[in-house]
Amino acid sequence: MNSSAVPNASPSAVIAIHGGAGTILRASMTPDAEANYHRALHDVLAAGQRVLADGGSALDAVSEAVRLLENCPLFNAGHGAVFTAEGTHELDASIMDGRTLDAGAICCVKRVKNPILAARRVLEASEHVMFTGEGAEAFAAAQGLAFVDPSYFHTDARHRQWLLARGQQRAMLDHDGAALEAGKTDDPTPHEPIDPNRKFGTVGAVALDAHGHLAAATSTGGVTNKQVGRVGDTPLIGAGCYADDATCAVSATGSGEMFMRMVAAYDVAAQMAYRGVSVEEAAADVVMNRLPRIDGRGGLIAVDAKGNVTLPFNTEGMYRGFARVGEAPVTAIYR
Ligand code: ASP
Repeated sequence: MNSSAVPNASPSAVIAIHGGAGTILRASMTPDAEANYHRALHDVLAAGQRVLADGGSALDAVSEAVRLLENCPLFNAGHGAVFTAEGTHELDASIMDGRTLDAGAICCVKRVKNPILAARRVLEASEHVMFTGEGAEAFAAAQGLAFVDPSYFHTDARHRQWLLARGQQRAMLDHDGAALEAGKTDDPTPHEPIDPNRKFGTVGAVALDAHGHLAAATSTGGVTNKQVGRVGDTPLIGAGCYADDATCAVSATGSGEMFMRMVAAYDVAAQMAYRGVSVEEAAADVVMNRLPRIDGRGGLIAVDAKGNVTLPFNTEGMYRGFARVGEAPVTAIYR
């Protein structure tokens, strides 16, 4: 995938996913680690592709893709989520249906196994759009969703990252461009293609289904060593997630505070609607021009109603991929 834009000649069902963006750690990266990421992305894309090939909705495809990404410990969402400053986990997720503009979101949940499924139930079964903390967990319990002991979210790799961030007394991400050079980090587990200490590990999916409808979903553990109660862009409709059949579906990953201030996901759709530009041009403007003005780092994935896919990021890498029905999934990590 040389370019971030993947134009589509004839509209066909397609899904795109991301597993976070950040600084590449080529120096100490192992071929095995890289292969693991490609395989995980490929398998999630194949699952989403199957939903679309069977005539399933874009909403079903993005729900399934994000559920699988949440279950995969390689990514910072669900199992494998990062730690808060108090050594706990607080998870956020959102989902939006481009057909109806219905949306659902939950934030600061600690025991819901798959936050994206809770967001989906909010979309389908509640008159409200967003629930937080205990109220979100009560809603999820009433909907019969699976709960886990908080220890389920613990992974040794994230725990080591947290100890490192805590030792350095920082809220995890060093946003100044002078990130440590690859391989010079003191992280004891640097064998990931993207430096876990300088990565935004949120997951997300966008899709166009065979019926011409769009959907987007995003889920995260937030940022390592975040203050308890901190909420980023991921569960905010318009910031980390947006979908409207009239324009596009968007899922974002990056420095959440900046994506919130730029209303990043909605801005892509708004630029298409008001300026009449393509999804590629709108997404590139948000990621390459607007976010950097306030030091916003990260990327997003977007698809329009014609199946044009774009996956821009302003970091050195972003775990990403897309799959059209009937074609082999394409995955990528580096620029
Ligand atoms: N955007 C997420 C947040 O700020 C972090 C990420 O993308 O990894 O919570």
